[in-house]
Amino acid sequence: MEREEADLLVIGGGITGAGIALDAASRGLKVILVEKEDFASGTSSNSSKLIHGGFRYLKSRDFKLVFEALHERGLLLRLAPGVVEPLPFLIPVYNSSIRYITKLFLWLFSHEKTTMMELIKAPLALRISVALYDLLAGKQKIKKHKILSKSEVLRAEPMLSPEGLKGGAIYYDAFGLDFRLTLSVIKKACEHGARCLNYTEVVDFIKEGKNIVGARLRDKIKGREYEIFAKKIIIAVGPWADELRSKADLKEKILRPSKGSHIIISREKLKINNAIVMEASDGRLTFAIPWEDLVIIGTTDIEYDKSIDEVRATGEEVSYLLEIVNRYFPSAKINYKDIITTYSGVRPLIDTRSSSVGDVSREHRITEENGAITIAGGKLTTYRVMAKDVVDRITKKPCVTQEIKLKEQCEEIPFEVEEDIKNHLVKIYSKRDIEKMAGMIEKNEKLKERILPSLPCIWAEIDLAAKHEFAVKLSDVMIRRLGIYFRKPKSKAIENIAKHMAKLLGWSDERTKLEIEEYLKEVEKGMEWKRDININLE
Ligand SMILES: Cc1cc2nc3c(=O)[nH]c(=O)nc-3n(C[C@H](O)[C@H](O)[C@H](O)COP(=O)(O)OP(=O)(O)OC[C@H]3O[C@@H](n4cnc5c(N)ncnc54)[C@H](O)[C@@H]3O)c2cc1C
Repeated sequence: MEREEADLLVIGGGITGAGIALDAASRGLKVILVEKEDFASGTSSNSSKLIHGGFRYLKSRDFKLVFEALHERGLLLRLAPGVVEPLPFLIPVYNSSIRYITKLFLWLFSHEKTTMMELIKAPLALRISVALYDLLAGKQKIKKHKILSKSEVLRAEPMLSPEGLKGGAIYYDAFGLDFRLTLSVIKKACEHGARCLNYTEVVDFIKEGKNIVGARLRDKIKGREYEIFAKKIIIAVGPWADELRSKADLKEKILRPSKGSHIIISREKLKINNAIVMEASDGRLTFAIPWEDLVIIGTTDIEYDKSIDEVRATGEEVSYLLEIVNRYFPSAKINYKDIITTYSGVRPLIDTRSSSVGDVSREHRITEENGAITIAGGKLTTYRVMAKDVVDRITKKPCVTQEIKLKEQCEEIPFEVEEDIKNHLVKIYSKRDIEKMAGMIEKNEKLKERILPSLPCIWAEIDLAAKHEFAVKLSDVMIRRLGIYFRKPKSKAIENIAKHMAKLLGWSDERTKLEIEEYLKEVEKGMEWKRDININLE
């Protein structure tokens, strides 16, 4: 069997593994990262896409986590402009009452159980919460919060229900396109010398006595198996941690997995200008988050013990999210039929023996046993700190990732395209990527044409994805490179996109057909919730 050697074998190509690969490679270590599916295909493409301090963690007094995350938010806005962008959040407050002030003081000075929304319903409590959030952000504050009267709230968000509305507040956080952020980190890690391999699964570990010294891998595309030996093995597989640890005979279970689902609707249907903070019937804070022409509504938080590979939104979750959004926006009349797709992920939360998953801390945990380091927990927002904490254990060289630009901003597009295409390209791609696309377009003018008339994506992006962004499957391109899936999941362009990829990657007709079938299965998964509810949606 073939074998390779490295200083570090990182298992898992989500944001955590990607962050570790970049951190270690930029400190001079020889790194190999392996991911069993596509990069970011796990939790790291299924988050709420918020790069945030976590307003709701104020409730659990996780001030350290909020402070750290707000600092990282500031850094990411600078390191990955466009992929991470400022986003205003509006909290509408309904039916405020003086007794909530009492709640606030009880929360500050006792361990009284209360929901975040209950706390912020009182005008004073709301003021204190948003001011505290700004204070914790310090120099990284995006913009100062604003307290709004009822009429100001309705001017900002005319579709909100005026019934019982008392006022509200706007505070600032950020939106981060999770799958593109992860890919940017992977690409940077490769630029620093790491070797990152998707569709490469760890099927077993290699041991010398008790010590884990390597892993047996299966290349799922070529079907071959080989071995990698490394001085350190890092298990960064998010919610798969306990499953993979058991293969390494690491018996302690460290996770308390929790599922979260989102629904996606068109922004035409729900015309919002800010992310809206909404209270679910069980007191959870949920969001309606504008994402270009779409709105993401989520999330749920449900203890999860089923297969992580098969996680999907259920009819019950979809109904739960629709109830919330229709309560806040009754005039929008959002219906099951308005749902373009759904997505779900499993939070790799650390088991802290809390009574409910919503109360489990979002902090990370690192354990080192038998030559392997496991990292789990944390958030998309704090991946860089998590990576630093791991690599600090391995080398004394200082961390430099706070200085590594993940995306060099491109100001001018070197080819003629319409304004919306230009804005889209500048937002997602670095200067280098755009130059690569320009080179491709110089040879073939057709590559600057739109893939679909209603979207700003162009064919050159597919060439870039296949040649420089590790896309090997149709689903990689549709979902995690161009994001067409979220807008037009069953677009007529699928066949043409598959044929285009077939030319680029040398697929046979049979493979092309298989790729389309596999992709359509993903589309089905996003709509499987329909099977759980008993209504006719035709
Ligand atoms: C619903 C939801 C909403 C969230 N919202 C936010 C948010 O708005 N902001 C925020 O900061 N955080 C958010 N989070 C948390 C954040 O998304 C996660 O903490 C983060 O994405 C975890 O990344 P990870 O790399 O640890 O795990 P993952 O992204 O799951 O990556 C682990 C990878 O390991 C791979 N793998 C598994 N087994 C093997 C094997 N044997 N061999 C090789 N590879 C393997 C998997 O395929 C997977 O890609 C949210 C999480 C969820 C579930």
